[in-house]
Amino acid sequence: METETIAAISTPMGEGAIGIVRISGPEAVQTADKLYKGKQSLQEVDSHTINYGHLVDPKSGQTVEEVMVSVLRAPRTYTKEDMIEVNCHGGLTSVNRVLQLILAHGPRLAEPGEFTKRAFLHGRIDLSQAEGVMDLIRAKTDRAMNVAMNQVEGRLSTRIQRLRQLLLETVASVEVNIDYPEFDAEEITVQMVRDKGGEVRRDIEQLLQTAHQGKILREGLSTVIIGRPNVGKSSLLNSLVHEEKAIVTDIPGTTRDVVEEYVNVRGVPLRLLDTAGIRETEDIVERLGVQRSREVVAGAELVLLVLNYNEALTEADEELFQLIDGQEAIIVVNKTDLEENVDMERVRTLAGGNPVVSTSLMKDEGIDELEEGIRTLFFAGEMDSGDMSYVSNSRHIALLEQALRSMDEALSSAENGMPVDMVQIDITRTWEILGEVIGESVQDSLIDQLFSQFCLGK
Ligand code: GDP
Ligand code: ZN
Repeated sequence: METETIAAISTPMGEGAIGIVRISGPEAVQTADKLYKGKQSLQEVDSHTINYGHLVDPKSGQTVEEVMVSVLRAPRTYTKEDMIEVNCHGGLTSVNRVLQLILAHGPRLAEPGEFTKRAFLHGRIDLSQAEGVMDLIRAKTDRAMNVAMNQVEGRLSTRIQRLRQLLLETVASVEVNIDYPEFDAEEITVQMVRDKGGEVRRDIEQLLQTAHQGKILREGLSTVIIGRPNVGKSSLLNSLVHEEKAIVTDIPGTTRDVVEEYVNVRGVPLRLLDTAGIRETEDIVERLGVQRSREVVAGAELVLLVLNYNEALTEADEELFQLIDGQEAIIVVNKTDLEENVDMERVRTLAGGNPVVSTSLMKDEGIDELEEGIRTLFFAGEMDSGDMSYVSNSRHIALLEQALRSMDEALSSAENGMPVDMVQIDITRTWEILGEVIGESVQDSLIDQLFSQFCLGK
């Protein structure tokens, strides 16, 4: 199939000192050269050079932009294809003008992620790395960025590859058993499956344990603030936002009545739901009605229930406690600068296992404890290293869960003395499922690798 040449703006939209338009594909250099006036033709310059000049519309002869053009020839490029990067002045009009000019002369507009897809298709990166790049672009906190970086660097791939290697060794041993049944290697095989298979199983399980946190880092922890009117919900929102610099995002696809806002609390990206509601009417229950609030609360991964230290608990407070029954929640008793009228004993009882934090948002007190509470709730002690490899992609999680189930079947078949070829089917399936994580094609390479293993063994 013939590869099309593609182009797109690769710097963020909007104001910026410079803008970059990328072209990739067989016609990249030729296209840029048609439009470029400089000391030398771009087709003659060395690869990996930056060339100063102007873009000129060949039809009108008019100069469009002053530019620096990087010429990057395959295969030492991001996509492994010939690439051009046109650096021009920042600002939407100028970058757009350059892109339009390029698109009018051959290349088509790249689809989202298409440069990275090409890097994958050309074998420069594996699938999990490609997905890491996507996450990197969308990362919401430094920590999420680290997770994505690790994935790009291939940490997850390395781990998956090691597991697949172990599985291959196991399959090889099972294979021997099938080919030479008179060997009576049955015992050895079962032992092998138990050892290596058990190790694989443990590792998959470990990876899956990071998945919950990984997903939070990637997608944000959906959080809702509830409480009676006037207890300090907006104040809480504002202090979270001010403390940590809000990351405000327009999420496409969100409906009007639920607006989301991101706040980074010590590395935990909170996706605050219904903040608009809190701001506008001060009361989510009042605004959305009981049924809808119940749904919003049930859908949230964290609830911050705010109470007033200065007032006795009301029936409404007790109802809110019922609303959050079974939810991960932090109880925030606010206005501690005022007289204690709330029954703290009762609050702790109602809170059950959930942490209770006292704050005076007016005096800026207790926010540290609250933030620490949020952090420890989700990264119980083990974070900080920054170099952990989290599984954060839902496709990976689904595959790892499949792999775990299939590995369990292999292990129980082996334990229960099932025929070895049954065991082999499950192990091979696990191997294939893990291969899908890194986007490796199946069967052929299994056969190749198996063959090479047998040669080694003989
Ligand atoms: P909401 O209705 O739950 O969103 O409550 P607000 O955040 O709008 O706060 C209601 C009122 O309580 C405002 O006048 C705040 O200034 C005040 N308030 C918030 N936190 C505190 C606090 O810690 N101490 C005192 N004394 N007043 C507070
Ligand atoms: Zn308010």
